[in-house]
Amino acid sequence: MRVTGLAGLEASAAGPRPGKPAGTRAAGPCRDLAAIALAQALGEVDRELESRKFVAEQGAVRFVFRADTVETFPAQGLLYYPGPQTYAEPPADKFAQAEALEYQKKDFGGAVQLLRAMCDSREQPPVRAAALLRLARNFRKLGRTDQAVSAYHDLAHVAGAAVDGVPAELVARHALAGLFDHMGDRAGLRREAEEIRALLHSGRHRLSRGPFLFYEGAARQWLGMPVQDDADENLAIAEGVGQFWKQWSEAKLEGSGRLHEWTAGGKPVLLFWRGTRGDLVGLAATPAWLERRWPGESGEVRLALTDANGRTILGHPSEPQTVRLTSATRLPWTLHVMDRGAQEVKNGFDLRRRLLLAGLTLMIGLVGVSSYFMARAVTREVALARLQSDFVAAVSHEFRTPLTTLRQLSGLLHTGRVPGEDRRRQYYEVLVRESERLDRLVDNLLNFGRMEAGAAEFRFEPFDPAGLVRSLVDDFQREVSPHGYRIELTTEADIPAVRGDRVALGRAVRNLLDNAVKYSPDRRTIWVELVQTGPQVVIRVRDQGLGIPASEQAGIFQKFVRGRAAKESTVQGSGIGLAMVSHIIQAHGGRVTVQSEPGTGSTFTLCLPAVEAS
Ligand code: ADP
Repeated sequence: MRVTGLAGLEASAAGPRPGKPAGTRAAGPCRDLAAIALAQALGEVDRELESRKFVAEQGAVRFVFRADTVETFPAQGLLYYPGPQTYAEPPADKFAQAEALEYQKKDFGGAVQLLRAMCDSREQPPVRAAALLRLARNFRKLGRTDQAVSAYHDLAHVAGAAVDGVPAELVARHALAGLFDHMGDRAGLRREAEEIRALLHSGRHRLSRGPFLFYEGAARQWLGMPVQDDADENLAIAEGVGQFWKQWSEAKLEGSGRLHEWTAGGKPVLLFWRGTRGDLVGLAATPAWLERRWPGESGEVRLALTDANGRTILGHPSEPQTVRLTSATRLPWTLHVMDRGAQEVKNGFDLRRRLLLAGLTLMIGLVGVSSYFMARAVTREVALARLQSDFVAAVSHEFRTPLTTLRQLSGLLHTGRVPGEDRRRQYYEVLVRESERLDRLVDNLLNFGRMEAGAAEFRFEPFDPAGLVRSLVDDFQREVSPHGYRIELTTEADIPAVRGDRVALGRAVRNLLDNAVKYSPDRRTIWVELVQTGPQVVIRVRDQGLGIPASEQAGIFQKFVRGRAAKESTVQGSGIGLAMVSHIIQAHGGRVTVQSEPGTGSTFTLCLPAVEAS
């Protein structure tokens, strides 16, 4: 694979993909310029690799592969290096005697004597390093921890030596950390773990992948960190270079080119190279490095790269965009160029549209809600006005009937045209009854007026409800018996006293009795019951009259409301009786309820709090 530049990119003005929006008209050339800028940036990388004049940049490492060595720019630029790293080791049989004492004879003291001699500064560093490690180990076995720690410290300072392929300093720090961990010295452990990490990231020692990951993982664990940091760019670059080295050493690469490697942590690493099998110069970089290098990013357009599988390497592809396929760019990546302005305009437009929609929805909601409340208020006003006019008509009618009777009978009596004493007495009785009826009507209206104005006054005092009900029923019985009505009263013994306004409560019961008679044209028995239920005195008035449909039962306690059957019948009424009953009972801390069924009859129940016996 040989890639020589991006001439094709400049030449190919590949338009937007079919079916994709083209963006604004001004954005087209902008996007082409942006793509060209990228081509130029990558061209510079090619030239830099060719001339081998490197500049240091964040997020990028230049490297040279030669036979079995890897050099980097900046020097020590990788956290770890591909291929095995070799260090000077002491002769294999140098420690045979000391190891025989240590392992076979368990003579740790003897081993210490022997090894001490080899820790001398005149010895070669690899020999001293190996001797110090063994010395520290024997001290540990002898329980002489302080001397073991001191031996490890000496080991850490043996420059340029390695033990079993790992720099002595790292081995010493790791052993010290392990010792501190064993001793429960948290501060010591932390200090050594931090030293290990600092050492690993300083690049002071060239490590291969295995040891680096082992010591890094151990130190991170001791420090309570996750074993690996997937966001570490340097780690990604080292991993990318390692994978690239493998391809190069397997002779899979030739000439020059670009590719990317995915790290185990899912990070892409960009790789650019130029050279031969024996000598290759390359650059490994993070996508962020490319973003910084590409001048277009700061302008009106944004860039994104995806691989052949559609996996995003750089940026965030979004609509509207111009897409340059690999065939056009000669890059191993698909290039997406988005108009930053168009995106922002689109975002702004979307935001404005959402705000507008929200505002509109709110307005519609407000208009809806206010219309609902207005309509409800108007409907109520209209209904009340209708009820009021019905009330005026009904009251006028109620007055007219007794007044007509009074006028006619008094006229007849006045002119002396009534024959016989009996007839005259009968007429006088009617006159009395009708004037009483008028009196009650006026009384009711006046009380209703006071109640409406909030001026109704009650005189509360304890009284015997049984006595009140009995006298009311007696009077009422006398009034209605000429019309064939019978009132049956049942009273429990020992009904407790009630605290309240005797007259007002009497008026309430009287209203119920009036209604029971008014709305029972055929079955003319009325039952009145007085019982005690718990702390309450209950008065029930039951009839077998017209009854009230369930749909009307809640409404009849409101002023001016009359039932349909009542309005359609010849029964006179003004619709204020039950409103008054309810008002009076509530003022006494009680409640009034109704149970009724059309055609069967109604039971009105008054519940009043009884006076507690002291
Ligand atoms: P009205 O002057 O119409 O009797 P009320 O406020 O006393 O006014 O009663 C309201 C309505 O309740 C009546 O119009 C009637 O429809 C219904 N109602 C009241 N008591 C009875 C009853 N005992 N039987 C049937 N309907 C009743």
